[in-house]
Amino acid sequence: KKIIIVGGVAGGATTAARLRRLDEEAEIVMFERGEYISFANCGLPYYIGGTIAEREALLVQTVEGMAEKFNLDIRTLSEVVDINRERKTVTVKHLPTEKTYEESYDYLVLSPGASPIKPAIPGIEEAEHVFTLRNIPDTDRIKAYVDEKQPKKAVVIGGGFIGIEMAENLWERGLEVTLVEAAKQIMAPVDYEMAAILHQHIRDKGVRLILEDGVAAFENRGQVVRLTSGTMLEADIVILAIGVKPENELAKRAGLAIGERGGIQVNEYLQTSDPSIYAIGDAIEVKDYVTGTPTHIPLAWPANRQGRIVADHINGRNVRYRGTLGTAIAKVFDMTVAATGNNEKTLKRLGIEYEVLHIHPYSHASYYPGAFPVALKLLFDRKTGKLFGAQAVGYDGVDKRIDVLATAIKGGLTVFDLPDLELAYAPPYSSAKDPVNMAGYVAT
Ligand code: FAD
Repeated sequence: KKIIIVGGVAGGATTAARLRRLDEEAEIVMFERGEYISFANCGLPYYIGGTIAEREALLVQTVEGMAEKFNLDIRTLSEVVDINRERKTVTVKHLPTEKTYEESYDYLVLSPGASPIKPAIPGIEEAEHVFTLRNIPDTDRIKAYVDEKQPKKAVVIGGGFIGIEMAENLWERGLEVTLVEAAKQIMAPVDYEMAAILHQHIRDKGVRLILEDGVAAFENRGQVVRLTSGTMLEADIVILAIGVKPENELAKRAGLAIGERGGIQVNEYLQTSDPSIYAIGDAIEVKDYVTGTPTHIPLAWPANRQGRIVADHINGRNVRYRGTLGTAIAKVFDMTVAATGNNEKTLKRLGIEYEVLHIHPYSHASYYPGAFPVALKLLFDRKTGKLFGAQAVGYDGVDKRIDVLATAIKGGLTVFDLPDLELAYAPPYSSAKDPVNMAGYVAT
């Protein structure tokens, strides 16, 4: 059989590797529009900030290395511009030569990702130092600009994961940073009172945080950012990180079903409305694991998991994708924020009744140095104990608690089961009653 993969990074590269592991004979062709494959998107902000010192460290696999290791036909600088479903071919444009050709497939896997939203803000075209961040060339551009032009003042627009990470990394480089967010809170996956802890921390670090305000225009070739409120911000560099949108053009043109939020629609086997075409990663609409409602969650875990499932399904294995919890984590200067499942905002919107629990236990035994309270929030059904979601903010041990709770949700455990989780304890790590146990005790 012959499988064509569109996109050679998180989802695409995972699919290719797994396909080869399952079938030595299959013909596997992976097309990537860019120059690089399988790079570490998630590490990009930290390379700009200097925490990751070596550029090579971002390049998880090279084209030659991966092609040889997995016996793949990898074609970079090659954009798939059309899917010809009736012929079961794709039209590919080799970007350097602009030559196009057709390539046939038995199965097609789409993993084209999501692209940064770049609205037509007045003055954006003239502003040369407004950057978005998605890939290695974006990273090189931002890093070179910071290294060579030595900007002093940065304006980061958007308080999501990438915006916050960029604010922190530019701050690390010694820039004066202003972070602008249109909503009343940063970090949408958590609720307001959890984000408020981060607001304070970010401000304590000397970052100017402006909430409930957006960009109205870039003036003076982007040297000045005018906000909706009328506030003027000087900017030597601007990072635009207001979200991403699924790259659905190819699928749309091919007549595949697209969801309301722009994600390609798939079934539980990750097949699109054409069963020989699969779609995965940031480009698809997924089912919310807790509520079953359609949503768009652009994260690396789902892309990797889905890539593997697709490869398994193509090889006749009985596998299903059961939905996305949206488990996520970010470093916010010295603090960590993490969440899994639904937050209060979502539950309210869906009209689901829930109980809220807030506790602030120490991350590990309070008598052992370095213990800090973890703000832990749990959302659950009072009657059945069903866990809807959890959020945590703190300096230490946040990742572990959210991961345990994410596991509990996937394992179908209820809030009543939490006291019974037997978790590892010694004073440097936890308490004999772990914060997750505590949450269970308080809830019951
Ligand atoms: P991508 O990895 O974006 O790959 C899609 C590829 O397809 C692209 O390289 C694109 O060029 C190519 N392509 C698109 N269309 C075509 C076409 N027609 N022909 C050929 N090639 C095409 N997630 C986390 O979970 N944790 C993190 O800490 C985290 N940090 C991030 C930091 C940054 C700066 C960014 C940008 C993302 C981060 N993410 C993080 C998100 C994570 O990287 C994505 O969820 C993941 O990469 C999605 O995988 P994908 O395969 O769907 O898309």
